[in-house]
Amino acid sequence: MVLAQLGGSISRALQQMSNATIIDEKVLNECLNEISRALLQSDVQFKLVKDMQMNIKKIVNLDDLAAGHNKRRIIQQAVFNELCKILDPGKPSFTPKKGKTSVVMFVGLQGSGKTTTCTKYAYYHQKKGWKPALVCADTFRAGAFDQLKQNATKAKIPFYGSYMESDPVKIAVEGVERFKKENCDLIIVDTSGRHKQEAALFEEMRQVSEATKPDLVIFVMDSSIGQAAFDQAQAFKQSVAVGAVIVTKMDGHAKGGGALSAVAATKSPVIFIGTGEHMDEFEVFDVKPFVSRLLG
Ligand code: GDP
Repeated sequence: MVLAQLGGSISRALQQMSNATIIDEKVLNECLNEISRALLQSDVQFKLVKDMQMNIKKIVNLDDLAAGHNKRRIIQQAVFNELCKILDPGKPSFTPKKGKTSVVMFVGLQGSGKTTTCTKYAYYHQKKGWKPALVCADTFRAGAFDQLKQNATKAKIPFYGSYMESDPVKIAVEGVERFKKENCDLIIVDTSGRHKQEAALFEEMRQVSEATKPDLVIFVMDSSIGQAAFDQAQAFKQSVAVGAVIVTKMDGHAKGGGALSAVAATKSPVIFIGTGEHMDEFEVFDVKPFVSRLLG
């Protein structure tokens, strides 16, 4: 189920409940089951959905609601709050400051949109007057450096990488050092991915992180990966200190539920979303407007 449909299904469930003459336990349960079904079909993790359902039932205690209370509004508000809660881990991520050097490391599986997102992130800040730089520490995929170089050149962002060197840790450290000397305030380290989760990949991420000491690690996730989102995000979180999530390809036919699961798995907020292949198809992510839009 794509995001717009998810929102539509939840809104419909709430509307159906509102149409009932009396909102009793049965009507509430039907509504919550309908919402849960929609969330599951959108690849939100089963446990999250169950927890959400339970929380709403706890908040909306129909017996205690005196006559005259607007049950419909209370339930709607509870659904809204619970969806926000899933997407808001409660603490903001580290935010780099303009003019002060920060190292930001990107992690994620191959194909997630990591390299594209690194450039988008750099470009976004460059437009706001920052001095970003890109380091390609992906020595695994042939062509990774060329791709980053092309993107960086197009955006006129300094970059560092090597065709010869095979040690990603060495390149990452050299790149970070160089751009620190050049007084860049946002040093972005693009790392390698693999087609699947492999021990070697996580070990490499751990080493690059240990050597470059990033201020922030961003996990990049393709919004269409579905139920795999939770495990994938958690696996990365276990090897490096993921502090934020960027969800890509939100323009496609993605099931947006993966985003909710990734937040839950990493206990880190989504900070941006990718909405296309172009450099400027990149949006700041805000929970409340997102959920409002979702619920229409
Ligand atoms: P990496 O292997 O993780 O570095 O992934 P890439 O950055 O090479 O991206 C893989 C593919 O996804 C490329 O064709 C990108 O153009 C595409 N892509 C990345 N982000 C987005 C996005 O937000 N929307 C769309 N539609 N495509 C994207």
